[in-house]
Amino acid sequence: METIKTWAPEQDIIPLHEPLFIGNEKKYVLDCIESGWVSSVGKYVDEFERNLAEFTGVKRAVAVVNGTAALHIALKLAGVKTDDEVMIPSLTFVATANAVIYENANPHFVDVDQRTLGIDPKKLREYLTNITQIKDGKCVNKRTGRVISAIVPMHTFGHPVSIDELKKVTDEFYIAIVEDAAESLGSYYKGIHTGNFGKVAAVSFNGNKTITTGGGGAILTNDDEVANRAKHLTTTAKVPHRWEYTHDEIGYNYRMPNINAALGVAQLEQLPSYLKQKRQLAEKYKLLFSCMDGVKFYEEPEYGQSNYWLQTIILDPNVHDRNQVLELLNKHGIMSRPIWMPLHELIPFQSCPQMNLSATEQLKNSVINIPSSPYLGEL
Ligand SMILES: *Cc1c(COP(=O)(O)O)cnc(C)c1O
Repeated sequence: METIKTWAPEQDIIPLHEPLFIGNEKKYVLDCIESGWVSSVGKYVDEFERNLAEFTGVKRAVAVVNGTAALHIALKLAGVKTDDEVMIPSLTFVATANAVIYENANPHFVDVDQRTLGIDPKKLREYLTNITQIKDGKCVNKRTGRVISAIVPMHTFGHPVSIDELKKVTDEFYIAIVEDAAESLGSYYKGIHTGNFGKVAAVSFNGNKTITTGGGGAILTNDDEVANRAKHLTTTAKVPHRWEYTHDEIGYNYRMPNINAALGVAQLEQLPSYLKQKRQLAEKYKLLFSCMDGVKFYEEPEYGQSNYWLQTIILDPNVHDRNQVLELLNKHGIMSRPIWMPLHELIPFQSCPQMNLSATEQLKNSVINIPSSPYLGEL
């Protein structure tokens, strides 16, 4: 009999985000092993894709090996071409930028809104108005001469970006939206699950995400044709046949193995209870930090519902030094991490085009993630 995991004081460290396998995980994984269906074909892949589509409300989900691969293919399916520019926040995990590079395109960094931690639509509109012109239904960067074909809003730590406002801007400038929903499974914008707002979206099931398949990701879309292309491209572009090896274009070996999907099916069954526990944890943190000076607990924006993937505090830099706080928390076994180093500061991306990134610059020294495992909400 499995018991619900809780944090025991004798344990040295409270991890940032710990996966939990207390449902049907062992049963389904064992079923894969015993049946021999462990690899890229099997009933759990189909079931996982169906259940994921149902949960998120998209028409189709295509399971892949990780979130980065999902993003890579999503960009391709959104029409990103070699040498295009793709606008992404500088404040995101490195995978967002890497996927753009894999598609031989150029990341172009945009600033975030301090309130949402996601792309700032107002600032984006001003910037695009200044630096672009529309030519033959395409948005061209006047400074570089390159086409800006897509933008990748990312729902930071599970908090949905203000999509309606963003969409107005991108429609006006003929820029396709590819949502990086890697962190936002279980997050909603005005009642609609994230990942439904662009042509195509990507989610991740890495070990530290809200639910995990070990490693894994999925491409989400409301367009059957896009979904069929996604499946084809991620399955080495093999034309279905009982024995012939015909591949009609360059494809990728990105399919999620059945054994990972088995884990995913079981984890998805647990997701509603994880989400509930994570909200409980957020309520507790909110109360705790409400009486502390120079620290604000980050709450979901009013228009949406966050999955509270990574619980977040924002320090007032006039009161607290970020590194001192990190030092103290980690020394006491409370695993805590700063927000990512902004991507425009990383060596591979230093020469990429960027707008004024003042909000990003401020947030990088004040945002900290604190322990976020669902079971902490029950303590
Ligand atoms: C986790 C994550 C990814 C990539 O997912 P992997 O499954 O680790 O490849 C992409 N973007 C963001 C914002 C993420 O947090």
